[in-house]
Amino acid sequence: MPAASKVKVLLDTYECNGCGGCAELCPEVFRMDETGEKAELLKADCRPLTPELAEAVKMCAQQCIELETC
Ligand code: SF4
Repeated sequence: MPAASKVKVLLDTYECNGCGGCAELCPEVFRMDETGEKAELLKADCRPLTPELAEAVKMCAQQCIELETC
């Protein structure tokens, strides 16, 4: 996927194990919810695919973050 792509972020909170990696790598898009056990999206709109976002997707061990071209 080229760096200039725009993507919509989809998060499967059922599969999320709460490791916090995505929120650490890309705090612009992800944060942990109030229980601290699940990630949640700060921004789910169509947005540029930044290197930080791509890294968060790659590093999620549960593979619960998906990007959809928009
Ligand atoms: S990196 Fe994946 S498993 Fe870890 S908190 Fe984020 S969405 Fe959940």
